[in-house]
Amino acid sequence: MNSIELAGIGMTSQRTRERLIQRLIDQGISSQPVLDVIRMTPRHIFLDEALSHRAYEDTALPIGFSQTLSQPYIVARMTEILLSSGPLKKVLEIGTGSGYQTTILSQLVGGVCTVERIEPLLRKARERFRKLRLSNITAELSDGSFGWDKHAPYDGIITTAAPQAVPEDLLRQLAPDGILVIPIGNGISQDLRVFRRQGDSAEFDEEIVEKVKFVPLLGGLSR
Ligand code: SAH
Repeated sequence: MNSIELAGIGMTSQRTRERLIQRLIDQGISSQPVLDVIRMTPRHIFLDEALSHRAYEDTALPIGFSQTLSQPYIVARMTEILLSSGPLKKVLEIGTGSGYQTTILSQLVGGVCTVERIEPLLRKARERFRKLRLSNITAELSDGSFGWDKHAPYDGIITTAAPQAVPEDLLRQLAPDGILVIPIGNGISQDLRVFRRQGDSAEFDEEIVEKVKFVPLLGGLSR
């Protein structure tokens, strides 16, 4: 990828990006590292060209296969909550999608493991990680309803698709004092919830953050 592609032109100018950052601050995002990484990350390369001029609007945008690239505010909020538990060595993301949330995370934690159930989306996301030279991401085609046992335990887990109830496997794969950030609910209404494991016990502290709207967590793979 050349520097013009990465910097963006026209609607994807630095000024447009700065406006997005100001909007996130106005909405209560206060983590400077999170704001800095969002400012530096080109969101337009995670979209098809026809939509790239809308990349710095604070809205969710379609990425094909009935899936969406999450709204920047939600990406910022979930990332900020994850980081609030202290430095994270290893994070699991369920729902790679475009790879945008993965890319933000990878710049703030030791390493990211991410799983996606739709093969063409995973393929495109991997290509973006390669172009951005992100070397601390491990991505796989897999049904994340069961987490990813192979690399467990995780200091943090983030789910970007909504199940109806918390998957037990995700709680089980949390390291001591690990944190899970997950939207839970049906297609109409979901709560963003946070589970914090109490030390190395099987006890979890649970908190509801706010109402959100994510695509549903689905089972099985799609090639
Ligand atoms: N984090 C993404 C958001 C994509 S939308 C981004 O920044 O672009 C959520 C994604 O979760 C979709 O790509 C969807 O295919 C995926 N998904 C849904 N259920 C899944 C499951 N059980 N396992 C893995 N991925 C899943």
